Amino acid sequence: MTVLLLNASYEPLAVVSWKRAMTLVLTGRAEMVEQDGSRVVRSAGGVEFPLPGVVRLMQMVSFASMRAKRSPNYSRAGLVARDNGECQVAGCEKPGSTVDHVIPRSRGGDNSWENCVLMCLSHNSRKGDQSLEELGWTLKQRPVAPHGLMVTLPVARKSDWAQWATSG
Ligand SMILES: [Zn+2]
Repeated sequence: MTVLLLNASYEPLAVVSWKRAMTLVLTGRAEMVEQDGSRVVRSAGGVEFPLPGVVRLMQMVSFASMRAKRSPNYSRAGLVARDNGECQVAGCEKPGSTVDHVIPRSRGGDNSWENCVLMCLSHNSRKGDQSLEELGWTLKQRPVAPHGLMVTLPVARKSDWAQWATSG
């Protein structure tokens, strides 16, 4: 059983398990917007709670902060997936066989989703310890952490959720 989680602004945010939704409601972090039919869940103490179908967070949550919390740890395998195995220098069609640090390690750049991109061997060796600005290169996309699992589930899974469906 899944529950649609709305942001405080009533925009769909994620699909969560009913247990997660109940926890949010019982701890006062969300309110029930719609019940899931007439279903109830019984607590260990025998108290019945209506099963939520749609809940709304009491405070606005930004997608960015959700992603930040839910993003997997940085890994080379994850980087290859995020960058589609391609060199990230704009216009380059070669496979990204090496990992480049946007801010070079010699200048304090770290191993992170935001500072690492795939590059082909020739671009990486030409870049060396220079910054993209110094070289006048641009990237195909801004390096960001991949999305967490919470936002990958399709939102329009139940017909009675249609009224909450997003345009994008
Ligand atoms: Zn390249």
